[in-house]
Amino acid sequence: MTSFLAFAKLCQKVEAISGSLEKIDLVAAFLAGLDEAELPVASSFVMGTLFPPSLDLVIGVGPSILYEALAKACGCPAEQISEMLRVTGDPGLVAAGIVEKRRPLGFAAFLKAEPLSIADVYERFVAIARASGKRSQDAKVKNLQFLFSQAGSLEARYIARLAIEDMRIGIGEGGVRDAVARAFSKSGADVENVERAYNLTNDMGLVAVAARRGTLAELSVMINHPIKMMLAQLGESIPAALADIGTAAIEWKYDGARVQIHKEGDSIRIFSRRLENVTASLPEIVLAARQITAQSAILDGEAVAIGKDGRPMAFQEILKRFRRKYNVEKLAAQIPLRLFLFDLIYLDGKSVTHLSLNERRALLEKIAYPALLADQVLSDSAKAAEEIYRQALNAGHEGLILKNPTSVYAPGKRGKNWLKIKPVMETLDLVVIGAKWGEGRRASFLGSYRLGCRDTATGNLLDMGFVATGLTDEALAELTEMFRELILLEKGMEVEIKPAVIFEVAYEEIQRSPNYSSGYALRFPRMVAVRDDKSLEEADSLERVVSLYKGQRGRGDSA
Ligand code: AMP
Repeated sequence: MTSFLAFAKLCQKVEAISGSLEKIDLVAAFLAGLDEAELPVASSFVMGTLFPPSLDLVIGVGPSILYEALAKACGCPAEQISEMLRVTGDPGLVAAGIVEKRRPLGFAAFLKAEPLSIADVYERFVAIARASGKRSQDAKVKNLQFLFSQAGSLEARYIARLAIEDMRIGIGEGGVRDAVARAFSKSGADVENVERAYNLTNDMGLVAVAARRGTLAELSVMINHPIKMMLAQLGESIPAALADIGTAAIEWKYDGARVQIHKEGDSIRIFSRRLENVTASLPEIVLAARQITAQSAILDGEAVAIGKDGRPMAFQEILKRFRRKYNVEKLAAQIPLRLFLFDLIYLDGKSVTHLSLNERRALLEKIAYPALLADQVLSDSAKAAEEIYRQALNAGHEGLILKNPTSVYAPGKRGKNWLKIKPVMETLDLVVIGAKWGEGRRASFLGSYRLGCRDTATGNLLDMGFVATGLTDEALAELTEMFRELILLEKGMEVEIKPAVIFEVAYEEIQRSPNYSSGYALRFPRMVAVRDDKSLEEADSLERVVSLYKGQRGRGDSA
């Protein structure tokens, strides 16, 4: 049996080195030495995943539960914990620090605790995830408290990070995939077959065990195991996309949220784009899926919220539906969803991913009513595609997806077989009015910036939310230095900044938002440049934001 301490030591080493090849080597050597019960747990843990999505287990531990458990396990006041968090920005380091200073707990301190094994930690996490009902918070705290009371400081560091599913050791899915391939190369594992198996099953534990046994090729699509969704690449233009694809399957790019539906008899499970089980939140999609006339199927599609005017409602409204756990029916009445299916992954016991889109679509048409299907037109005419594009935008949707009708379903791949065509949004020049300190390694940098647009009537700057820069550490350090001089006020992790600097910002879409004083927010904002050349008066006004908002997808003045 391998101790959790050995796993924590591995994590510490992986965290400390910067080279990704060395990280992969370390993880590979560790995984190769585990027994078959520990291997699935450790290979998921190392990438910060506690349970594969097929298990339907969610740990449900946030900062308050974590800190309560630490305070109880170590007899330390909660204020001290918050203060440490403010300084380090890292719950793992906080847990390690608190456990280090743990008050001896009387008689118990003389009893030598059994060292925690990897399996012990896993079992406690399962118990935490299973805790439900009124007393679930207490049960979660107790189990976590037990782990902290048994752990040394290094173990505590990684127990805390696992509990909030954020390992911060610089190895993700890709790195662990490479490590599994390396660990079991003698059994025939390589990067390609490990990746294929992972994209199909989303269960690194299952994949690692199959890699060791030399049975990777036997893993396939399984009902109730969400599979990574095929994604679309941004196409340059309609003519360019058609030149690439030739005759294309042309579909609207619906303005909704992706759903992957697993049907087995009457049992329906729905997974979101992030592969979370959202079945309970989407009763009308469950009903729609029951109408599929196949015994078992995995279907791919988009859930769209349709407003009273028949147009799609804003994306945030759909997210409300996806997140809602209680009083679902009430919200469903306000934000009704409609399903548009565009692909088929599995049918009556067999994967159909190897079939062409044309063939999959033909099968889909046999098992689904036309009203459940996304419209599709096969054409190589730019004129025809432009017309469908215009219709999609007029109907309030996002644009088009042009698909290669001969292509297979490629799980997890963003490739040229699906090209999305969307209107290009103009950038906005906005004033930086605040910022947030980073976390962990970036605790000494201002990492995200609050943006404002100008209210021409009053001269005030109106809040439009944050942009994270996506800059290198070096560039961030420079930016932080520049803004340090402009800090007006510190409030916890946030600072208020004297308006002086303009960021040019790109985004996917402008959304209405009651959370900000401008009434608008940017979806997926990205910093394009610091516009030193622009003065504050040249920042964009609320009027421009509103006019860009109205120009989106033929919203006109009504929205
Ligand atoms: P993006 O999120 O911009 O990468 O665009 C890809 C997303 O568009 C997919 O994940 C789907 O949620 C959505 N989508 C809307 N309509 C379609 C369609 N007809 N085919 C595929 N994806 C679609």
